[in-house]
Amino acid sequence: MTIQANNVTVRFGGVVAVRDVSLSVEKGQIVSIVGPNGSGKSTMFNAITGMVSTASGTVSVDGKRIDREPAHRRIGLGLARSFQTPRFDPHTTVFDAVMCGFYPVKKSSIFGAMVRTPFAAAEEQRFRDRCEAILEDLQLSEFRDLQMNELPMGRVRLVEVGRAVANEPKYILLDEPAAGLARDEQRMLAGEVRRLAERGVGVLLVEHNFNLIRELAEHVVVLKEGAVLLEGTPDVIAKDRAFIDTYLGRAG
Ligand code: ADP
Ligand code: MG
Repeated sequence: MTIQANNVTVRFGGVVAVRDVSLSVEKGQIVSIVGPNGSGKSTMFNAITGMVSTASGTVSVDGKRIDREPAHRRIGLGLARSFQTPRFDPHTTVFDAVMCGFYPVKKSSIFGAMVRTPFAAAEEQRFRDRCEAILEDLQLSEFRDLQMNELPMGRVRLVEVGRAVANEPKYILLDEPAAGLARDEQRMLAGEVRRLAERGVGVLLVEHNFNLIRELAEHVVVLKEGAVLLEGTPDVIAKDRAFIDTYLGRAG
């Protein structure tokens, strides 16, 4: 059970944003993509989830080719993602923001929801219970009735993760979920990512904080200018000269 990307290339006009990239994420595995800004990390996410088209290469999930499937069908196959820049209605509550994550998988009709058929009511209750559990996991329960514009950015990112995990995906792609998080928020995020993997979810994580990567990921893929520069375990990567020069170079 795997997400498998083979030789994926994505072009924007003359720009090759992703060049011949292959990677795989198994169920229960945490794989991290790292690389400087503009190295193609988000574009690779977009290629897997169907938000950009690939110029060549293939993407499959559990052996089924998905690279010509529309994004909504890929969600149906168990893929979820968070966005690098979360976009929520500022006036929606934290609880409702996480509830949004269920809409793609909602089985009951609008009619059913309006007249509250037993099926629609049971489904709604199941989603509400699951939503409460997610808020608890991410220590967001105390904020549940706040509006999104009342939350600090770190918590907004956690809500974004909560929304993505809501519909119990098989694979989840998290795009820089820890950016700007305070240390305690990072702990909550790391805990949630670990719990997901323990439950058998495959996690693809774009992350800059190498301590967090070392703590969570078993495999790291380093991108540079859209191509794979090197890959391996966090410990092996951390010692690599090419990695140190490209990735840590700007930090000194
Ligand atoms: P990263 O997430 O690693 O910072 P991106 O995947 O966002 O990098 O971007 C990779 C390259 O593709 C960059 O040169 C960026 O400018 C370009 N790019 C990304 N998205 C688009 C787009 N929608 N249209 C044109 N160019 C894009
Ligand atoms: Mg990005």
